[in-house]
Amino acid sequence: MTSVRSPGLLETPSVSVRKSPVHGLGVFALKPLPGRRKIGEVGGRIVDARRALREIARSRRIYFVQLDERHGLDCSRGNALGRLNHSCRPNCYLRIVRHRVEVYSLRPIRRGEELVIDYGQTPHRKGMKCLCGSKDCKDII
Ligand SMILES: [Zn+2]
Repeated sequence: MTSVRSPGLLETPSVSVRKSPVHGLGVFALKPLPGRRKIGEVGGRIVDARRALREIARSRRIYFVQLDERHGLDCSRGNALGRLNHSCRPNCYLRIVRHRVEVYSLRPIRRGEELVIDYGQTPHRKGMKCLCGSKDCKDII
């Protein structure tokens, strides 16, 4: 499979990866982050989307962002921002610009707070139990 490194990979010194109370590892703010601001970009390899979705169906690996019909970003070995967890009450969102995945804050984020996004239409199997704990949790991702 041909693949290229994601262009525009930014260092993200404002966040770090550590154990999350939500699920596995998560991304946490090392300092207060302003709202409505670009935090960085998810790093990874651009891969063939259909092949990646077949692999995901087998292994349940979910470190993947669909970019368009044919391409996805495999962020298994990218940077910290590839480890964003889901929440039904997110404080960040992804914006896909061509083949780049940018992460923006929805509101100001406190130091030490976990950065979370709404996975929405991610390709992993539906029916995963959501553990986000927010009041308006939809229970199922
Ligand atoms: Zn939830």
